[in-house]
Amino acid sequence: MSTRSPIWHPFTQHGLRPTLPVAVQAEGAYIATSDGRRIVDAISSWWVITHGHRHPRIVAAIEAQARIMDQVIFAEFTHEPAETLARRLVRLAPPGLDHVFFSDSGSTSVEVALKMALGFWRHTGRPRHRIIVMEHSYHGDTVGTMSVGERGPFTAAYDPLLFEVARIPFPAAGGEEATFEALEVHCRRGDAAAFIVEPLILGAGGMLIYPPTVLARLRQICSAHEVLFIADEVMTGWGRTGSLFACEQAGIAPDIACYSKGLTGGSMPLAVTLCSATIFDAHLSSDPRRTFFHSSSYTANPIACAAAVANLDVWEDEPVRERITALAAAQAGQLDRFRDDARFSSVRQLGTITALDLNAETAGYLSEVGPRLRRAFQDADVLLRPLGNTIYVMPPYCVTIQDLDLIYRAIERAAEQALS
Ligand SMILES: *Cc1c(COP(=O)(O)O)cnc(C)c1O
Repeated sequence: MSTRSPIWHPFTQHGLRPTLPVAVQAEGAYIATSDGRRIVDAISSWWVITHGHRHPRIVAAIEAQARIMDQVIFAEFTHEPAETLARRLVRLAPPGLDHVFFSDSGSTSVEVALKMALGFWRHTGRPRHRIIVMEHSYHGDTVGTMSVGERGPFTAAYDPLLFEVARIPFPAAGGEEATFEALEVHCRRGDAAAFIVEPLILGAGGMLIYPPTVLARLRQICSAHEVLFIADEVMTGWGRTGSLFACEQAGIAPDIACYSKGLTGGSMPLAVTLCSATIFDAHLSSDPRRTFFHSSSYTANPIACAAAVANLDVWEDEPVRERITALAAAQAGQLDRFRDDARFSSVRQLGTITALDLNAETAGYLSEVGPRLRRAFQDADVLLRPLGNTIYVMPPYCVTIQDLDLIYRAIERAAEQALS
């Protein structure tokens, strides 16, 4: 393009990447660009695409709904796509999550969760405001969600605005007791409103995995102290970890759950925050001051809701669970050859997600190998975005064995180039 684009892209240093490829079409596991390349989407376009790009059933639902009703104000009306979706989500979610609040991104669903928790304590006459979080967590990029997430280069400029939270260590193998004890200590202080956590795997923090037994114990400690348990399933939801929701594997039900990314199969922006009747009822009153004061303009957009309903249909009518099991097995097969490779460490997998750390001089998100890896993947027409020296693969469920071969060969070559 002749003139410079006015667009400021997300998480993009334009001083290092003055131009970006132009995406012109997407289908299945592939994104086509204007220069004729077909790029395999090995990170599901930032973890949102579950079944594949443009699943015909979801596309058809979007087209049909767009012909009937676009945006309508959700504080004045309800509508069939939202009602159907909410009822079906309550049936699918862990027991006790009986109410559904709509928003439009993972970050807003977490903001809503935090506000629900504080509202609950205020309206039951026991004002508690402290939020307990896990080290290395990521919950979004708004000021509130940055506050409950890991601090680092991404938050440095905004740290003065972020509120204080209580932190517990990540439950690394062998260190679980320290995590439990820290949670116990923070819970006992009596001022903790809620504990928020990404169940089973911390995504943006580096694909750090911990077992269901640990998650169950964290839940148990919170229950014992009446601290609300918020499961941020924005990434883990919709099959990524091998089950529909990660909490299922631990047999737990949170008080509040956040779902977004795969909620519409990745086709439209939409998010929900589910909560227990106890939390809803604490706001239920004839007193307008107890209203839950939150809304986004596009709350429960009918077209997005219709896309989500179609996604649930896909889950119900197609062998999605079988596809996920097969993908997890194929991923495990690919990963095997890296287990004895001295260039890599912490070779790990949870469900459809794999990750491995390249043994570089510097670790962390700004590791100098990051840009070199990125370039190698671009040359191979494979979309991967390492988190520093952590390479991870999170493909859509329609990815083939051949696609996976391509992806893992690119990882091998990229490692050679990055370390040479
Ligand atoms: C991506 C993500 C979010 C934020 O979602 P957005 O839609 O990008 O705002 C929150 N929590 C987790 C665990 C995520 O992975």
